[in-house]
Amino acid sequence: MSELQRFLFDGLPVRGAIVRLTDAWAEVLRRRAANTETGAYPLPVAQLLGEMLAASVLMHTHVKFDGALILQIAGDGPVRLAVAQVEADLRLRATASVSGAVAADADLAALANPGGKGRCAITLDPRTRAQGQQPYQGIVGLADDGGAPFHTLAAGLQHYMRRSEQLASTLVLAADENVAAGLLVQRMPLTGAGNLGGSVQEAEAGYERIATLAASLTQRELLELQPSAVLHRLFWQEKLMGFAPLSGEQGPRFACTCSRERVAGMLRGLGQEEVQSILRERGEAEVGCEYCGQQYRFDAVDVRQLFTEPGSQPPVPPHVQ
Ligand SMILES: [Zn+2]
Repeated sequence: MSELQRFLFDGLPVRGAIVRLTDAWAEVLRRRAANTETGAYPLPVAQLLGEMLAASVLMHTHVKFDGALILQIAGDGPVRLAVAQVEADLRLRATASVSGAVAADADLAALANPGGKGRCAITLDPRTRAQGQQPYQGIVGLADDGGAPFHTLAAGLQHYMRRSEQLASTLVLAADENVAAGLLVQRMPLTGAGNLGGSVQEAEAGYERIATLAASLTQRELLELQPSAVLHRLFWQEKLMGFAPLSGEQGPRFACTCSRERVAGMLRGLGQEEVQSILRERGEAEVGCEYCGQQYRFDAVDVRQLFTEPGSQPPVPPHVQ
């Protein structure tokens, strides 16, 4: 079963979390494979998307935010757009659009940044938005400050977290057709070093030690071992304080937030003329959710209602439908 566990270390300014997605990840892949238009993801794309999903759960854990965290990669290679979305209650979903051939050994740079124009965006979309409030969004390129492209998502996100949050972070990610998993340890802001009962230098050394241990975790171990076994293997000599693991209905689980109302809002956003022309062409407007495969159909009567009744939902861009 999919599981998330947060942990701290007694006396050290370090927080961490480990996630292992199994059933939730299988559901994402199963629904994609069932889509007769697209078919299953090529393995390198599935690996990237699984890592994005694991990373999104870990980052959401640390921002403590009531809303969705959306990690998007807009690429200039075979991966045009990849999206992973995690709600505050750990419901999650993901999708990617792929065009052209994908090499069997394609990494992040080859998949999404061969021309150097790939971008990664992290959006925090609050569950309840004050009027006029925009979601927070941070956007970064997929290369380091010297212009060298990142070959792994973990390297790109570590760079992002260091720059945006000013917090040193160590991230290990891995995914295959069965498991999407990740480990994140992060230096906590020092708000009163005295509270930790040691000097700033000791705190610094403590973080460095934990980060070095975390970075020694291999992708194979992350995929094969249960979270408790990973934590034991890495930190058995440390004063680890683990929170109760979250799984089942409290844990990370697949769920799509799409709805007929949201699709209706999107159609309204297209405008009546556009939707009528689709109707003339096909007899009905059919919109399939890219995340879960649900098909929403609007016939002529539905469409007339769409544009006569006042909309209860504002237009929604396709990626959050
Ligand atoms: Zn859906």
